[in-house]
Amino acid sequence: MPELPEVETVRRGLQPALEGQTLKSVILRRPNLRIPFPKDFAKRLSGVKVERLGRRAKYLLMHMISGDIAIIHLGMSGHMTVLEGDIPEPGKHDHVDFCTANGVTVRFCDPRRFGLMTLTTEEEMENHKLIKNIGPDPLGNGFNADVLAAALEGRGSPIKAALLDQKNVSGLGNIYVSESLFRSGISPKRLAKTVQGARAEKLTRAIRDVLNEAIAAGGSSLKDHVAPDGELGYFQHNFNVYGKEGEPCPTCSTAKIKKIVQSGRSTFYCSNCQR
Ligand SMILES: [Zn+2]
Repeated sequence: MPELPEVETVRRGLQPALEGQTLKSVILRRPNLRIPFPKDFAKRLSGVKVERLGRRAKYLLMHMISGDIAIIHLGMSGHMTVLEGDIPEPGKHDHVDFCTANGVTVRFCDPRRFGLMTLTTEEEMENHKLIKNIGPDPLGNGFNADVLAAALEGRGSPIKAALLDQKNVSGLGNIYVSESLFRSGISPKRLAKTVQGARAEKLTRAIRDVLNEAIAAGGSSLKDHVAPDGELGYFQHNFNVYGKEGEPCPTCSTAKIKKIVQSGRSTFYCSNCQR
């Protein structure tokens, strides 16, 4: 499942293809993904210039100069491909094409159809049901140690669960929460309310660093990725703890990485380095 760095990588990969370009047509090959497309989805986007591509948590936001905004979520398996020249025939799971006036097609393929696309406007976006409860973006100006500490104050849940709660901080999933907690030396089992002061500072920095490194890795794989098939968004990272159960801890090397299940989700950590 794509987390914030993957979505940000897709956004950056799509920027040159879409920003400042007019959409000649939008082709929908089925009535719905996870939810139905708005009736006028293709009509409201066709013939309109894309002003910019934004992102809120894991939602891509295509801001049109008309004031409309397409909200796009990649779901579990959705991916975007930038196609130029001879555009291949769509495959079975190629549900949407965004075709620009200068001959580029951005194709959305989603075998499991957990993705979604819908519309809002600049005026209504902040109150849109998908957007309004999203907490601060960990890479944005609205996120810092004080904001995180305030969100965690009084919380009796483990820090792992509190970081997955999108109201506290947005866009983090299982992978980057495990990696951020490892980086900051904080046990995933620690009560969220005890992450204050210097500990909140350390965690905030770790979250930012882990995400920025992943985005940088995505950016470098992007170059390799776009060349052969134009597909964006999925790449391999070198994780410290995620998926490394039983391997020696890269920091202390005396302990082995443990895997535990918290609220139904796997957590990977070092019980020696993380307290
Ligand atoms: Zn360790």
